[in-house]
Amino acid sequence: MSLTPAASKTPPAHAPMNQFAAGDGELRIGGMPLTRLAARVGQTPFYAIDRSVVAARVAELRAALPPAVKLHYAMKANPMPALVGHLVGLVDGIDVASAGELKVALDAGADPRHISFAGPGKRDAELRQAVAAGILVNLESAREIAPLAQASQALGLPARVAVRVNPDFELKSSGMKMGGGPRPFGVDAERVPAVLAEIGRAGLAFEGFHLFAGSQNLKAEAIVDAQRRSFELALRLAEAAPAPLRFLNLGGGFGIPYFPGEQRLELAPVAANLAAIAADTARLLPQAELVIELGRYLVGEAGIYVCRVLDRKVSRGHVYLVTDGGLHHHLSASGNFGQVLRKNYPLAIGNRMGEAGQETVSVVGPLCTPLDLLGDRVLLPAAQAGDLVVVFQSGAYGASASPQAFLGHPPALEVLV
Ligand SMILES: *Cc1c(COP(=O)(O)O)cnc(C)c1O
Repeated sequence: MSLTPAASKTPPAHAPMNQFAAGDGELRIGGMPLTRLAARVGQTPFYAIDRSVVAARVAELRAALPPAVKLHYAMKANPMPALVGHLVGLVDGIDVASAGELKVALDAGADPRHISFAGPGKRDAELRQAVAAGILVNLESAREIAPLAQASQALGLPARVAVRVNPDFELKSSGMKMGGGPRPFGVDAERVPAVLAEIGRAGLAFEGFHLFAGSQNLKAEAIVDAQRRSFELALRLAEAAPAPLRFLNLGGGFGIPYFPGEQRLELAPVAANLAAIAADTARLLPQAELVIELGRYLVGEAGIYVCRVLDRKVSRGHVYLVTDGGLHHHLSASGNFGQVLRKNYPLAIGNRMGEAGQETVSVVGPLCTPLDLLGDRVLLPAAQAGDLVVVFQSGAYGASASPQAFLGHPPALEVLV
């Protein structure tokens, strides 16, 4: 066995964060040097989303995907109203997960015909709001049928439904599995025919199926496999449907690279597979619109989290950059949002971009808990109090997925630039 010590010690690198420009030593967001943006925002910490990076990601997808595939934004990834407004102009529909998100989507001008609503615990009041809005409800349980029928009768409006199916397979190598086996999400595939019959008896307006096998997948073959199997399952289930399929949402799960050694998802095989599925759909389910729903893939890489170094503290030889931001704003970067083994998000000192790595430091926040860690032993340019720490890949599952009230520090601002 020949293990060269030098090679075995080199940690795998993060994928290059080349979605942003840098110049004169500064990261540029929305074309603006970071220190100027921080002055414009007026405080740290803040999240900044670059609208041009979001638009470029959508354009890249549009160029790769067959035109028959409609692109939806799953807004739980980032429900910031200005961002949802930006995306409403770029995508074909919005997927919401609560009446609160529905309000943001409607306020942003989303067309109710192209809004869908998924979530395992929909309250009766939310179902009624959905019927009144005229959006599509992705039914997760037979329990939702009666309140939907009631709302439909009371309001004199159709209750548009698709059945969310809990498939009889899992998405391989997914960061977060949401299908296969027992799940709180969707109707088990084997129970779908009975639920379809009930939908027919209740007079709901059946439109199609929704399948979502999992999230944060970086392996094209796994996504291809899940989408192919989802399509085949939908074809089989369509035989029991009370009306022809008008809507088929095959989910998404496209991941982005967060951790050392991860590579960006290869889009070409996914696009080729979707083209084949679109051709089959046109032939076998001619009235069905084919949809994929993406959250983090659309917005995650376009956002950064910025906090300021308050103190450069040395404890027994180990350097800590103590910042004004941390897990209360950015739970996922601290490793406490679904990670099993904590790994570092890509970090930079945003006002020292040209400088070579000089110091191995840990970046921590102001909270009195060892969980408040944004970077564990990362090589960064030698930083001082006042410098700006940037956490990349922060456009999804950031502020809205974090316990902002924990310890009573002020919330992070969010800007779209
Ligand atoms: C969370 C969720 C998404 C978005 O997942 P991402 O990993 O952000 O793309 C899409 N669809 C459903 C049903 C979800 O629950």
